[in-house]
Amino acid sequence: MFIEPKTIIHEPKVGWIELICGSMFSGKTEELIRRVRRAVIAQRKVKIFKPKIDIRYHKIKVVSHNKNEIQSVPVANPLEILKLIEGEEDVIAIDEAQFFENSLVDVVTELANDGYRVILSGLDMDFEGKPFGVIPGLMGIAEYVTKLHAVCKRCGNIASFSYRLTESNKQVLLGEQEEYEARCRRCFIIGMEEKRNKLTSQKITF
Ligand SMILES: [Zn+2]
Repeated sequence: MFIEPKTIIHEPKVGWIELICGSMFSGKTEELIRRVRRAVIAQRKVKIFKPKIDIRYHKIKVVSHNKNEIQSVPVANPLEILKLIEGEEDVIAIDEAQFFENSLVDVVTELANDGYRVILSGLDMDFEGKPFGVIPGLMGIAEYVTKLHAVCKRCGNIASFSYRLTESNKQVLLGEQEEYEARCRRCFIIGMEEKRNKLTSQKITF
């Protein structure tokens, strides 16, 4: 379990970056909320941001799959985060970071350099098992990277892939449990092959 290097930030403020990543259903948002709650107990001022694209459940609150929720500010792009910071905050948390553009790397670097503790959470791979957008860049610059794992819905092994049950090819497809399931590498490969075979047989039929 992640333990904060320190919760009290002394003057001059020295910031750092933490990244929580993993597949869907791996508990990323719960972990983000856990760290935020601990910072609040330590009387740190926290501001939480999320991309406007994530419209599941509620527009303002960061909501995890187990309904553990906390207030957040929806923003359209990373620069908006810089504009909305008032200077009194100690901790900046950013949920669903994979939906932000690559400039998020520069924005969080600037925040950490200015003395903020930055906690991000995001999907590390898309539905094809490819690195997701800005997340690999964030892994490179973060002092602390925590990779969480889900449980494979098929076989019960450790899962690190988000398998899409529908056949859409869009990278960003907001969905819930009925559209995705966590899978281990083996079950993910089997599923992708089944999809490919289905497509091929359809082509032959028509
Ligand atoms: Zn499996």
